Amino acid sequence: MIKFLKRFISDSVNKGKINQNNLDSSPVDIKNHILLALKLLKIDCPIIEYPALIFESRNQVVVQKKIDKQTVPQDASFYGAYQLNNLVLVAKYTPTFVNNKIDMVEKNNAELFFFLLHELRHIWQEKYHKDIYGSKNAIGYEVIEDIAEIDADAFALSFFFSDKIPYNHNDLPNSLNQIFLHATVDGGKRFERVLEISKEINLECKSQIDEAIEHVDKDYIRQNVFIMKLNGYI
Ligand SMILES: [Zn+2]
Repeated sequence: MIKFLKRFISDSVNKGKINQNNLDSSPVDIKNHILLALKLLKIDCPIIEYPALIFESRNQVVVQKKIDKQTVPQDASFYGAYQLNNLVLVAKYTPTFVNNKIDMVEKNNAELFFFLLHELRHIWQEKYHKDIYGSKNAIGYEVIEDIAEIDADAFALSFFFSDKIPYNHNDLPNSLNQIFLHATVDGGKRFERVLEISKEINLECKSQIDEAIEHVDKDYIRQNVFIMKLNGYI
């Protein structure tokens, strides 16, 4: 387990090289998809790592290289992925809550790729549109309404479900509900942005996204919306 304060991450990251060797740690069958995304976004390949878990507790980001459920504190809030400067971490495991018990499910390669796409878009935002997206770092439920998070989610949805990538909703067995949750509760902002992005960069994704929405677990959405309303998040 690595523990570090946020400000220390940037010091170590700046030493990283930007080149295609940064793809070495990625699963073979998503490497070409990553290259395509980098080309489309016109960004260099960041350093990409796949630790077991990433979570925040008491303003500290904790990265577990190997999974160790016993040491995860009660107040941990989990990240699917995390980006800081030229470093992108994608967590291999996704927490699921069943009967108030936390369980960890391993993401497949398509799911790792989806979460990576979101973070690559943040790098694009920082490189080309810092004025629009750089104002604040959304945390917790702020991400629902945050313009940078909406754009990053919308890009990931547009590209993942596009004609450029051979995946569809069946490839997201552990993440489909989570991926569509914010798009369901944001009043249509993510889907609006999907339309804009897909037009801008010429992606055909509408039918695949519509089909994916059909397969989202409505009970999962209902329960989560209920909890969010109860807590005044939406
Ligand atoms: Zn984000």
